[in-house]
Amino acid sequence: MAAHTIYYGTIIHSVSIEQVDIIQNGVLVVDATGIIVHVERDVADIKEFLDKQPYRDVEIHSLGAEQFLMPGFVDTHAHAPQYMFAGSGMDCQLLDWLEKYVFPCESAFESTDHALEAYQKVVARFLSNGTTTCSWFATIHLEACKKLVDIVHQLGQRAFVGKVNMDQNAPEFYIESTQSSLKDTRAFIEYVQSKETTLITPVVTPRFAITCSSALMNGLSQLAKEYRVPIQTHLCENHDEIDFTCELFKSKDYTSVYDNHHLLNERSYMAHCVHMSDEEIDLLAQRKTGVAHCANSNFSLHSGVCDVRRFLAKGIKVGLGTDVAGGFSPSMLDAIRSTFFASKTQKIIHRDNGKNNDYVPLKTNELLFLATLGGAQVLGLQDQIGNFEKGKSFDALWVDLEGGSIDLMGGESMDQKLEKFLFNGNDQNLKHVYVQGGKVSSRK
Ligand SMILES: [Zn+2]
Repeated sequence: MAAHTIYYGTIIHSVSIEQVDIIQNGVLVVDATGIIVHVERDVADIKEFLDKQPYRDVEIHSLGAEQFLMPGFVDTHAHAPQYMFAGSGMDCQLLDWLEKYVFPCESAFESTDHALEAYQKVVARFLSNGTTTCSWFATIHLEACKKLVDIVHQLGQRAFVGKVNMDQNAPEFYIESTQSSLKDTRAFIEYVQSKETTLITPVVTPRFAITCSSALMNGLSQLAKEYRVPIQTHLCENHDEIDFTCELFKSKDYTSVYDNHHLLNERSYMAHCVHMSDEEIDLLAQRKTGVAHCANSNFSLHSGVCDVRRFLAKGIKVGLGTDVAGGFSPSMLDAIRSTFFASKTQKIIHRDNGKNNDYVPLKTNELLFLATLGGAQVLGLQDQIGNFEKGKSFDALWVDLEGGSIDLMGGESMDQKLEKFLFNGNDQNLKHVYVQGGKVSSRK
Protein backbone atom coordinates (compact mmCIF):
# COMPACT_ATOMS: atom_id res chain seq x y z
CA MET A 1 0.00 0.00 0.00
CA ALA A 2 1.32 3.41 -0.99
CA ALA A 3 2.04 6.00 1.68
CA HIS A 4 -0.28 8.46 -0.04
CA THR A 5 -3.26 8.14 -2.38
CA ILE A 6 -3.86 11.02 -4.75
CA TYR A 7 -7.19 11.85 -6.39
CA TYR A 8 -7.03 14.19 -9.38
CA GLY A 9 -10.08 15.71 -11.05
CA THR A 10 -13.25 17.61 -10.18
CA ILE A 11 -13.98 17.90 -6.46
CA ILE A 12 -17.28 19.22 -5.09
CA HIS A 13 -18.09 19.92 -1.45
CA SER A 14 -19.99 22.28 0.84
CA VAL A 15 -17.94 24.94 2.52
CA SER A 16 -20.98 26.31 4.36
CA ILE A 17 -24.75 26.13 4.00
CA GLU A 18 -24.56 28.98 1.49
CA GLN A 19 -21.57 27.85 -0.50
CA VAL A 20 -20.72 24.82 -2.58
CA ASP A 21 -17.13 24.82 -3.77
CA ILE A 22 -16.51 23.25 -7.18
CA ILE A 23 -12.80 22.62 -7.61
CA GLN A 24 -11.74 21.92 -11.19
CA ASN A 25 -8.47 20.04 -11.74
CA GLY A 26 -8.32 19.48 -8.02
CA VAL A 27 -5.87 17.33 -6.14
CA LEU A 28 -6.69 15.57 -2.87
CA VAL A 29 -3.84 13.82 -1.08
CA VAL A 30 -4.91 11.17 1.44
CA ASP A 31 -2.41 9.55 3.81
CA ALA A 32 -2.30 5.87 4.80
CA THR A 33 -4.56 6.52 7.81
CA GLY A 34 -7.29 7.99 5.60
CA ILE A 35 -6.70 11.64 6.48
CA ILE A 36 -6.74 14.39 3.83
CA VAL A 37 -3.32 16.01 4.07
CA HIS A 38 -3.36 18.29 1.03
CA VAL A 39 -6.00 20.01 -1.12
CA GLU A 40 -4.97 21.92 -4.23
CA ARG A 41 -7.07 23.57 -6.95
CA ASP A 42 -6.40 24.31 -10.64
CA VAL A 43 -3.59 21.81 -11.11
CA ALA A 44 -2.96 21.72 -14.86
CA ASP A 45 -0.41 18.92 -14.74
CA ILE A 46 -0.36 16.29 -12.01
CA LYS A 47 3.26 15.30 -12.76
CA GLU A 48 4.46 18.88 -12.37
CA PHE A 49 2.50 19.13 -9.11
CA LEU A 50 4.14 15.98 -7.77
CA ASP A 51 7.64 17.18 -8.72
CA LYS A 52 7.16 20.14 -6.37
CA GLN A 53 5.69 18.10 -3.50
CA PRO A 54 7.29 15.80 -0.92
CA TYR A 55 4.97 12.86 -1.73
CA ARG A 56 7.04 10.07 -3.29
CA ASP A 57 5.37 6.73 -2.60
CA VAL A 58 2.03 7.53 -4.23
CA GLU A 59 -0.91 5.85 -5.91
CA ILE A 60 -2.67 8.20 -8.35
CA HIS A 61 -6.35 7.98 -9.28
CA SER A 62 -7.36 10.31 -12.09
CA LEU A 63 -11.08 10.97 -12.40
CA GLY A 64 -12.69 11.00 -15.85
CA ALA A 65 -14.22 14.10 -17.46
CA GLU A 66 -17.74 13.15 -16.35
CA GLN A 67 -16.75 12.12 -12.85
CA PHE A 68 -16.30 13.99 -9.59
CA LEU A 69 -15.59 13.41 -5.91
CA MET A 70 -18.01 14.57 -3.24
CA PRO A 71 -18.27 13.88 0.51
CA GLY A 72 -20.12 10.73 1.57
CA PHE A 73 -23.71 11.10 2.73
CA VAL A 74 -24.53 11.34 6.45
CA ASP A 75 -27.86 9.73 7.38
CA THR A 76 -28.74 11.09 10.82
CA HIS A 77 -31.69 8.78 11.46
CA ALA A 78 -32.46 5.20 10.34
CA HIS A 79 -33.81 2.01 11.93
CA ALA A 80 -31.69 -0.96 10.82
CA PRO A 81 -34.23 -3.73 11.67
CA GLN A 82 -37.09 -1.94 9.93
CA TYR A 83 -35.40 -2.34 6.56
CA MET A 84 -37.09 -5.77 6.65
CA PHE A 85 -40.42 -4.19 5.70
CA ALA A 86 -39.43 -0.96 3.96
CA GLY A 87 -42.33 0.15 1.79
CA SER A 88 -45.00 -1.73 3.75
CA GLY A 89 -47.67 -0.16 5.93
CA MET A 90 -47.58 3.18 4.21
CA ASP A 91 -51.34 3.49 4.70
CA CYS A 92 -50.87 3.86 8.48
CA GLN A 93 -50.17 6.77 10.74
CA LEU A 94 -47.35 6.56 13.29
CA LEU A 95 -48.94 4.93 16.35
CA ASP A 96 -50.90 2.31 14.35
CA TRP A 97 -47.86 1.60 12.21
CA LEU A 98 -45.75 0.95 15.32
CA GLU A 99 -48.29 -1.60 16.59
CA LYS A 100 -48.92 -3.31 13.26
CA TYR A 101 -45.49 -3.39 11.66
CA VAL A 102 -42.63 -2.11 13.83
CA PHE A 103 -43.05 -3.96 17.11
CA PRO A 104 -43.68 -7.41 15.55
CA CYS A 105 -40.76 -6.95 13.16
CA GLU A 106 -38.31 -5.68 15.79
CA SER A 107 -39.24 -8.35 18.34
CA ALA A 108 -37.91 -11.02 15.92
CA PHE A 109 -34.41 -9.62 16.46
CA GLU A 110 -34.26 -11.55 19.68
CA SER A 111 -32.73 -14.15 17.37
CA THR A 112 -29.13 -13.22 16.65
CA ASP A 113 -29.12 -15.37 13.49
CA HIS A 114 -32.01 -13.34 12.15
CA ALA A 115 -30.22 -10.13 13.15
CA LEU A 116 -27.01 -11.18 11.41
CA GLU A 117 -28.75 -11.88 8.14
CA ALA A 118 -30.88 -8.74 8.13
CA TYR A 119 -28.15 -6.37 9.29
CA GLN A 120 -25.69 -7.59 6.62
CA LYS A 121 -28.21 -6.63 3.96
CA VAL A 122 -29.20 -3.26 5.32
CA VAL A 123 -25.68 -1.99 6.05
CA ALA A 124 -24.42 -3.16 2.62
CA ARG A 125 -27.39 -1.46 0.95
CA PHE A 126 -26.78 1.84 2.74
CA LEU A 127 -23.09 1.76 1.78
CA SER A 128 -23.84 1.06 -1.87
CA ASN A 129 -26.13 4.10 -1.80
CA GLY A 130 -23.26 6.26 -0.57
CA THR A 131 -24.20 6.55 3.11
CA THR A 132 -20.73 6.61 4.62
CA THR A 133 -22.02 7.63 8.05
CA CYS A 134 -25.30 6.46 9.56
CA SER A 135 -26.97 6.93 12.91
CA TRP A 136 -28.73 3.63 13.56
CA PHE A 137 -31.51 2.60 15.90
CA ALA A 138 -31.31 -1.18 16.49
CA THR A 139 -33.76 -3.01 18.81
CA ILE A 140 -34.01 -3.60 22.58
CA HIS A 141 -31.95 -6.85 22.35
CA LEU A 142 -28.38 -6.52 23.60
CA GLU A 143 -26.93 -9.47 21.64
CA ALA A 144 -28.53 -8.43 18.34
CA CYS A 145 -27.34 -4.86 18.89
CA LYS A 146 -23.80 -6.18 19.25
CA LYS A 147 -24.24 -8.02 15.94
CA LEU A 148 -25.16 -4.75 14.23
CA VAL A 149 -21.97 -3.21 15.62
CA ASP A 150 -19.93 -6.20 14.38
CA ILE A 151 -21.40 -5.91 10.89
CA VAL A 152 -20.95 -2.15 10.68
CA HIS A 153 -17.34 -2.71 11.78
CA GLN A 154 -16.78 -5.50 9.28
CA LEU A 155 -18.29 -3.59 6.34
CA GLY A 156 -16.42 -0.40 7.24
CA GLN A 157 -19.21 2.11 7.75
CA ARG A 158 -18.82 5.07 10.10
CA ALA A 159 -21.77 4.83 12.45
CA PHE A 160 -23.55 5.77 15.62
CA VAL A 161 -25.38 2.70 16.91
CA GLY A 162 -28.07 2.70 19.59
CA LYS A 163 -29.68 -0.04 21.63
CA VAL A 164 -33.34 0.97 21.76
CA ASN A 165 -34.94 1.42 25.20
CA MET A 166 -38.61 0.86 26.03
CA ASP A 167 -40.08 -0.12 29.41
CA GLN A 168 -43.74 0.96 29.06
CA ASN A 169 -46.61 1.29 26.58
CA ALA A 170 -45.22 -1.50 24.45
CA PRO A 171 -46.62 -4.99 23.72
CA GLU A 172 -45.79 -7.83 26.11
CA PHE A 173 -43.68 -9.55 23.47
CA TYR A 174 -41.46 -6.51 22.99
CA ILE A 175 -40.70 -4.71 26.22
CA GLU A 176 -37.97 -4.71 28.90
CA SER A 177 -37.84 -3.81 32.58
CA THR A 178 -36.32 -0.47 33.57
CA GLN A 179 -33.49 -2.22 35.30
CA SER A 180 -32.55 -4.57 32.46
CA SER A 181 -32.87 -1.74 29.94
CA LEU A 182 -30.29 0.31 31.84
CA LYS A 183 -28.04 -2.68 32.53
CA ASP A 184 -28.04 -3.75 28.86
CA THR A 185 -27.43 -0.19 27.67
CA ARG A 186 -24.38 0.03 29.90
CA ALA A 187 -23.13 -3.32 28.60
CA PHE A 188 -23.77 -2.19 25.02
CA ILE A 189 -21.85 1.08 25.43
CA GLU A 190 -18.93 -0.81 26.97
CA TYR A 191 -19.00 -3.35 24.14
CA VAL A 192 -18.78 -0.63 21.47
CA GLN A 193 -16.11 1.28 23.36
CA SER A 194 -14.04 -1.89 23.68
CA LYS A 195 -13.94 -2.34 19.89
CA GLU A 196 -10.71 -1.32 18.26
CA THR A 197 -12.23 1.32 16.02
CA THR A 198 -12.85 5.05 16.09
CA LEU A 199 -15.53 4.70 13.41
CA ILE A 200 -18.34 3.45 15.67
CA THR A 201 -19.90 5.45 18.48
CA PRO A 202 -22.52 4.12 20.90
CA VAL A 203 -25.54 6.39 21.21
CA VAL A 204 -28.11 6.33 24.01
CA THR A 205 -31.45 5.67 22.28
CA PRO A 206 -34.75 5.95 24.16
CA ARG A 207 -37.28 5.09 21.42
CA PHE A 208 -39.50 8.01 22.40
CA ALA A 209 -41.09 9.39 25.56
CA ILE A 210 -44.25 7.26 25.28
CA THR A 211 -42.33 3.99 25.68
CA CYS A 212 -39.95 5.24 28.38
CA SER A 213 -40.73 5.76 32.06
CA SER A 214 -39.29 8.74 33.93
CA ALA A 215 -36.96 6.40 35.81
CA LEU A 216 -35.64 5.00 32.53
CA MET A 217 -35.11 8.41 30.92
CA ASN A 218 -33.33 9.72 34.02
CA GLY A 219 -31.13 6.62 34.10
CA LEU A 220 -30.31 6.98 30.40
CA SER A 221 -29.30 10.63 30.70
CA GLN A 222 -27.02 9.59 33.57
CA LEU A 223 -25.43 6.88 31.41
CA ALA A 224 -24.89 9.31 28.52
CA LYS A 225 -23.14 11.66 30.93
CA GLU A 226 -21.06 8.95 32.56
CA TYR A 227 -19.78 7.50 29.27
CA ARG A 228 -19.78 10.85 27.39
CA VAL A 229 -21.92 9.51 24.58
CA PRO A 230 -24.58 11.19 22.43
CA ILE A 231 -28.36 10.76 22.72
CA GLN A 232 -30.86 10.23 19.90
CA THR A 233 -34.62 9.93 19.97
CA HIS A 234 -37.87 11.03 18.27
CA LEU A 235 -39.64 14.32 18.99
CA CYS A 236 -42.93 15.91 17.90
CA GLU A 237 -43.55 13.63 14.94
CA ASN A 238 -47.34 13.40 14.91
CA HIS A 239 -50.28 15.08 16.69
CA ASP A 240 -51.61 11.94 18.44
CA GLU A 241 -48.12 11.12 19.68
CA ILE A 242 -47.68 14.66 21.05
CA ASP A 243 -51.08 14.62 22.80
CA PHE A 244 -50.41 11.21 24.35
CA THR A 245 -46.96 12.28 25.55
CA CYS A 246 -48.16 15.53 27.15
CA GLU A 247 -50.98 13.66 28.90
CA LEU A 248 -48.69 10.87 30.09
CA PHE A 249 -46.10 13.22 31.60
CA LYS A 250 -48.53 16.03 32.54
CA SER A 251 -46.40 18.39 30.50
CA LYS A 252 -47.21 21.63 28.69
CA ASP A 253 -45.30 20.39 25.64
CA TYR A 254 -43.30 17.42 24.36
CA THR A 255 -39.84 19.02 24.25
CA SER A 256 -39.99 19.85 27.97
CA VAL A 257 -40.47 16.16 28.75
CA TYR A 258 -37.00 15.37 27.41
CA ASP A 259 -35.55 18.51 28.95
CA ASN A 260 -36.96 17.60 32.36
CA HIS A 261 -35.15 14.26 32.08
CA HIS A 262 -31.87 15.94 31.05
CA LEU A 263 -31.88 14.40 27.59
CA LEU A 264 -31.32 17.62 25.64
CA ASN A 265 -27.74 18.76 25.26
CA GLU A 266 -25.22 19.65 22.56
CA ARG A 267 -24.65 15.97 21.74
CA SER A 268 -28.37 15.12 21.45
CA TYR A 269 -30.30 15.06 18.21
CA MET A 270 -34.01 14.67 17.70
CA ALA A 271 -35.70 13.07 14.70
CA HIS A 272 -38.69 14.73 13.00
CA CYS A 273 -39.58 17.85 15.07
CA VAL A 274 -42.50 18.44 12.70
CA HIS A 275 -44.93 20.18 15.07
CA MET A 276 -43.04 22.51 17.39
CA SER A 277 -43.99 25.77 19.10
CA ASP A 278 -41.57 28.70 18.91
CA GLU A 279 -40.88 28.13 22.60
CA GLU A 280 -39.87 24.51 21.95
CA ILE A 281 -37.58 25.53 19.10
CA ASP A 282 -35.97 28.13 21.36
CA LEU A 283 -35.38 25.40 23.95
CA LEU A 284 -33.63 23.20 21.35
CA ALA A 285 -31.50 26.19 20.32
CA GLN A 286 -30.63 26.92 23.94
CA ARG A 287 -29.59 23.32 24.56
CA LYS A 288 -27.65 23.23 21.23
CA THR A 289 -29.57 20.07 20.31
CA GLY A 290 -29.65 19.02 16.63
CA VAL A 291 -32.51 17.97 14.35
CA ALA A 292 -32.70 14.99 11.99
CA HIS A 293 -35.14 16.01 9.26
CA CYS A 294 -36.93 12.93 7.88
CA ALA A 295 -39.06 14.24 5.02
CA ASN A 296 -39.94 10.95 3.29
CA SER A 297 -41.16 9.47 6.57
CA ASN A 298 -43.09 12.62 7.45
CA PHE A 299 -44.97 12.31 4.16
CA SER A 300 -45.31 8.51 4.16
CA LEU A 301 -46.84 8.31 7.66
CA HIS A 302 -48.60 11.64 6.89
CA SER A 303 -47.14 13.09 10.08
CA GLY A 304 -46.78 16.58 8.64
CA VAL A 305 -44.48 18.88 6.71
CA CYS A 306 -41.53 20.05 8.74
CA ASP A 307 -40.38 23.63 8.13
CA VAL A 308 -36.61 23.31 8.27
CA ARG A 309 -36.18 27.07 7.83
CA ARG A 310 -37.50 27.62 11.37
CA PHE A 311 -34.56 25.65 12.79
CA LEU A 312 -31.95 27.11 10.50
CA ALA A 313 -33.12 30.62 11.37
CA LYS A 314 -32.37 29.89 15.04
CA GLY A 315 -28.94 28.44 14.28
CA ILE A 316 -30.01 24.88 15.13
CA LYS A 317 -27.94 22.11 13.52
CA VAL A 318 -29.97 20.21 10.89
CA GLY A 319 -29.17 17.00 9.01
CA LEU A 320 -31.25 14.62 6.90
CA GLY A 321 -32.52 11.17 7.81
CA THR A 322 -34.02 8.44 5.65
CA ASP A 323 -35.86 7.14 8.73
CA VAL A 324 -36.03 3.68 7.18
CA ALA A 325 -38.69 2.34 7.38
CA GLY A 326 -41.04 5.23 8.21
CA GLY A 327 -39.31 6.46 5.08
CA PHE A 328 -39.35 3.75 2.44
CA SER A 329 -36.01 4.50 0.77
CA PRO A 330 -32.50 3.69 2.03
CA SER A 331 -31.02 6.32 -0.29
CA MET A 332 -29.92 9.76 0.84
CA LEU A 333 -30.61 10.94 -2.72
CA ASP A 334 -34.23 10.21 -1.90
CA ALA A 335 -33.86 12.09 1.40
CA ILE A 336 -32.58 15.10 -0.57
CA ARG A 337 -35.51 14.91 -3.00
CA SER A 338 -38.10 14.44 -0.22
CA THR A 339 -36.58 17.41 1.60
CA PHE A 340 -36.87 19.41 -1.62
CA PHE A 341 -40.58 18.52 -1.90
CA ALA A 342 -41.23 19.28 1.78
CA SER A 343 -39.63 22.66 1.35
CA LYS A 344 -41.64 23.40 -1.81
CA THR A 345 -44.78 22.34 0.08
CA GLN A 346 -43.90 24.85 2.81
CA LYS A 347 -43.65 27.51 0.12
CA ILE A 348 -47.14 26.59 -1.11
CA ILE A 349 -48.55 26.53 2.45
CA HIS A 350 -47.04 29.92 3.23
CA ARG A 351 -48.36 31.42 0.00
CA ASP A 352 -51.86 29.95 0.23
CA ASN A 353 -52.28 30.89 3.88
CA GLY A 354 -51.31 34.43 2.94
CA LYS A 355 -48.65 34.19 5.67
CA ASN A 356 -45.55 35.03 3.74
CA ASN A 357 -45.20 35.03 0.01
CA ASP A 358 -41.46 35.64 0.35
CA TYR A 359 -40.79 32.20 1.85
CA VAL A 360 -37.66 30.80 0.19
CA PRO A 361 -37.57 27.02 -0.34
CA LEU A 362 -34.28 25.20 0.15
CA LYS A 363 -31.86 25.54 -2.74
CA THR A 364 -29.60 22.86 -4.19
CA ASN A 365 -26.54 24.11 -2.31
CA GLU A 366 -28.49 23.90 0.97
CA LEU A 367 -29.73 20.39 0.19
CA LEU A 368 -26.18 19.19 -0.48
CA PHE A 369 -25.01 20.79 2.76
CA LEU A 370 -27.79 19.18 4.84
CA ALA A 371 -26.99 15.72 3.41
CA THR A 372 -23.26 16.01 4.19
CA LEU A 373 -21.75 18.72 6.42
CA GLY A 374 -25.08 19.53 8.10
CA GLY A 375 -25.47 15.89 9.13
CA ALA A 376 -21.87 15.82 10.35
CA GLN A 377 -22.63 18.83 12.58
CA VAL A 378 -25.72 17.12 14.01
CA LEU A 379 -23.55 14.14 15.01
CA GLY A 380 -20.74 16.36 16.30
CA LEU A 381 -18.41 15.03 13.58
CA GLN A 382 -17.89 18.34 11.76
CA ASP A 383 -14.15 18.34 12.49
CA GLN A 384 -13.78 14.83 11.06
CA ILE A 385 -16.11 14.55 8.07
CA GLY A 386 -18.70 16.42 5.97
CA ASN A 387 -16.37 18.02 3.44
CA PHE A 388 -12.81 17.80 2.13
CA GLU A 389 -11.02 20.25 4.38
CA LYS A 390 -7.40 19.37 5.10
CA GLY A 391 -7.15 17.31 8.30
CA LYS A 392 -10.53 15.61 7.87
CA SER A 393 -11.09 11.95 7.03
CA PHE A 394 -11.54 10.90 3.43
CA ASP A 395 -15.20 9.76 3.47
CA ALA A 396 -16.09 10.18 -0.16
CA LEU A 397 -18.17 9.25 -3.19
CA TRP A 398 -16.56 8.83 -6.61
CA VAL A 399 -19.50 9.91 -8.74
CA ASP A 400 -19.64 8.80 -12.36
CA LEU A 401 -22.31 10.63 -14.34
CA GLU A 402 -22.19 7.92 -16.99
CA GLY A 403 -23.38 4.38 -16.38
CA GLY A 404 -26.22 5.19 -13.97
CA SER A 405 -29.61 6.77 -14.45
CA ILE A 406 -28.45 10.09 -15.92
CA ASP A 407 -28.30 11.23 -19.52
CA LEU A 408 -25.81 13.97 -20.28
CA MET A 409 -26.98 16.02 -23.24
CA GLY A 410 -23.77 18.00 -23.75
CA GLY A 411 -22.98 21.52 -22.65
CA GLU A 412 -24.09 21.14 -19.02
CA SER A 413 -22.25 23.34 -16.53
CA MET A 414 -20.69 21.66 -13.48
CA ASP A 415 -23.54 23.06 -11.34
CA GLN A 416 -26.04 21.38 -13.65
CA LYS A 417 -24.12 18.12 -13.55
CA LEU A 418 -24.27 18.17 -9.76
CA GLU A 419 -28.02 18.85 -9.94
CA LYS A 420 -28.46 15.98 -12.41
CA PHE A 421 -26.77 13.64 -9.94
CA LEU A 422 -28.77 14.87 -6.93
CA PHE A 423 -32.13 14.77 -8.73
CA ASN A 424 -31.71 12.03 -11.36
CA GLY A 425 -28.80 9.92 -10.16
CA ASN A 426 -28.87 6.56 -8.38
CA ASP A 427 -26.50 4.07 -6.78
CA GLN A 428 -25.20 3.06 -10.22
CA ASN A 429 -23.65 6.51 -10.49
CA LEU A 430 -21.39 5.67 -7.54
CA LYS A 431 -18.24 4.10 -8.94
CA HIS A 432 -16.65 3.82 -5.49
CA VAL A 433 -17.55 4.69 -1.91
CA TYR A 434 -14.82 5.40 0.68
CA VAL A 435 -14.75 5.62 4.47
CA GLN A 436 -11.58 6.81 6.23
CA GLY A 437 -9.66 6.39 2.97
CA GLY A 438 -10.70 2.75 2.50
CA LYS A 439 -12.99 1.50 -0.26
CA VAL A 440 -16.22 0.15 1.28
CA SER A 441 -18.38 -0.29 -1.82
CA SER A 442 -18.00 -0.30 -5.60
CA ARG A 443 -20.49 -0.34 -8.44
CA LYS A 444 -21.16 -3.87 -9.66
ZN1 LIG B 1 -37.43 6.94 13.51
